[in-house]
Amino acid sequence: MSQAVLKLKKVIVDFSGFKAINQLDFTVQSKSVHFVIGPNGAGKTTLLDVVCGKTKATTGEIKLQEKKELSKLTEDQIVHQGISRKFQAPTIFHNLTVKDNLEIAMKQKKNLFSMIKAKWTNEQKKKVNDMLDLVGLKEEQDQLAGSLAHGQKQWMEIAMVLMQEPDIVLLDEPIAGMSKKERNKTGELITKIAKDHAVLIVEHDMDFVKEYADIVSVMHEGQLLYEGSMEEVQNDPTVREVYLGR
Ligand code: ADP
Repeated sequence: MSQAVLKLKKVIVDFSGFKAINQLDFTVQSKSVHFVIGPNGAGKTTLLDVVCGKTKATTGEIKLQEKKELSKLTEDQIVHQGISRKFQAPTIFHNLTVKDNLEIAMKQKKNLFSMIKAKWTNEQKKKVNDMLDLVGLKEEQDQLAGSLAHGQKQWMEIAMVLMQEPDIVLLDEPIAGMSKKERNKTGELITKIAKDHAVLIVEHDMDFVKEYADIVSVMHEGQLLYEGSMEEVQNDPTVREVYLGR
């Protein structure tokens, strides 16, 4: 059964008097594919920024699994608490192999001392292998990351995010620039990931959202305009007027 893993209460992000996020209450359930949609400037990116610590909330509370208040933590501390984000622009090491990139992502979660001292345990090697399997990059594991196709780079980055053992995975337009085949594979991958994680995704492609969403949140002017299944969202008159334009 799913449960709330992340709760935002009355969060405001104020940029010099402009509230990009305005008194937002927002909940993410475990094991769900949760899309955030809305017009440009609605505050979708700022929501991801404030959850991963890139931007600080001006006021309000951000709590992970009823535990820790996240709004005062640094980005690194938030990764340790269980929230990892894949940005839209690639953040990979092009001159290292796919496998090395995954190993580095795993090490980022450890402290410097254990990074230097540690020998790879069989368990860690298995984890890298399982992850390569999951994202379909086993055959490419010894290839330089820079030589991968666009879609493969994105999947490698998703694998790097998962190596950090997050409870919540944040994705920013994960299918941007992908072919139809790559897009379908990404959808299937997200569905698999949501068996064990909450996946919170900012996305503009409504067909993709329709196909893969468990929950859709529609944002408008820094607030939640509507939340429900994609079918409910599409049938809501206010959403149609403000966003879908139909
Ligand atoms: P979306 O992702 O939904 O398009 P954003 O979260 O990027 O929207 O932006 C929401 C609003 O906040 C926009 O009007 C944007 O111009 C503004 N904004 C975002 N970041 C900043 C910033 N660092 N300083 C000032 N205004 C910002």
